[in-house]
Amino acid sequence: MVLAQLAGSIKGALDRMCNAIVVDEKVLLDPGKPSFTPTKGRRPASVVMFVGLQGSGKTTTCVKYADYHRRTKGLSPALVCADTFRAGAFDQLKQNATKAGIPFYGSHTESDPVRVAVDGVDWFRNEEGCDLIVVDTSGRHRQEAALLEETRQVADATRPDLVVFVMDASIGQAAFEQAQAFRESAPVGAVIVTKMDGHAKGGGALSAVAATKSPVIFMGTGEHIPDLEAFDAKSFVSRLLGLGDLSGFMDKIHVIPADDNRSPYQILEELIKKGNFTLRALRLLFQAVQTMGPLGQLVSMMPGLISDKFNEREGQAKMKRYMTMMDSMTDGELDGTNAKLMNQSRINRVARGSGRPVREVVNMLEEHKRMVKMMSKLPNVKRPNDINHLVN
Ligand code: GDP
Ligand code: MG
Repeated sequence: MVLAQLAGSIKGALDRMCNAIVVDEKVLLDPGKPSFTPTKGRRPASVVMFVGLQGSGKTTTCVKYADYHRRTKGLSPALVCADTFRAGAFDQLKQNATKAGIPFYGSHTESDPVRVAVDGVDWFRNEEGCDLIVVDTSGRHRQEAALLEETRQVADATRPDLVVFVMDASIGQAAFEQAQAFRESAPVGAVIVTKMDGHAKGGGALSAVAATKSPVIFMGTGEHIPDLEAFDAKSFVSRLLGLGDLSGFMDKIHVIPADDNRSPYQILEELIKKGNFTLRALRLLFQAVQTMGPLGQLVSMMPGLISDKFNEREGQAKMKRYMTMMDSMTDGELDGTNAKLMNQSRINRVARGSGRPVREVVNMLEEHKRMVKMMSKLPNVKRPNDINHLVN
């Protein structure tokens, strides 16, 4: 039942669970050496070259990457289009760069990518104030020999500080071969996984990391320029393993406002720690869940705790009804300090006061009792003294 399962959303327990599972996978994502990071004011300007297959998201990501460093680190980036293979490549970069207000270089007539790349890099290196030059390259459909040779030549000629391998989240295991092929042509030093906003979980990133011995630095999460997120291994792995986005879930929990200085969650956590998952704690949990927006969203972030049968509308309605019933209880009843009061006559009163059937009040109390039992099984949660006091 959803209520009992929601009760599993206890920070400590989830964190421990997540850490235990993530440790191994995280090692797979961490090649042990950090990637080059462009810095403000660097002379000569840092050169970052993007490689990857056509459609992987290079052009889009080049612009996002340049914009990200300008926005968050105050760098002065510029873009160079060394894709002379695909008709319209320069126009696409030009359009995106113009939208972002980032200077760009390219040619409609020059067909030699090495030439355009070198001219562009030289141009911006002499440009006062420019400290980051992002070079977009061509990427045909397969890692054909000509493309890889072109990648090698552009890299040799522009001597980039960093070569970024861009991969689509949906490519899966094929990422290994792709990344390896590019790595043989250019010194790949970082990976960016794009289209993480789609259905794919991006498991191929593990292969790309293994093939390039480079870390994942960013994730593309949409088609727009700001849709680039710094890579967080923990959250990536928990999503990959179907554990849900634990960090995201924790963050949400913490932003819930409360009448006192503590968040309902903190109060809840304390109550549970004391082995005291009272009805008031349950009410706080509902309150917390309701301020977090659609339950479905929350549910999708929770690690396998929610049954497939979960129904958003029913879940919400039920929580509302339960809260109404709890509002008809006295403080003593909610806090479980005056449990003796929760006898048949009190149950009848609560039912009358909230306009709900007696049966439902009893159900709620029983469900709460089951939750208390479940809570007590979570690690580091004390067993309540008496879970039977609530219904008698
Ligand atoms: P390139 O051929 O490697 O240069 O790839 P493009 O940058 O042209 O991107 C190919 C398509 O993928 C375009 O339609 C982009 O808008 C789209 N795209 C790129 N990154 C993302 C992303 O993170 N999310 C989504 N939804 N679409 C993306
Ligand atoms: Mg492109």
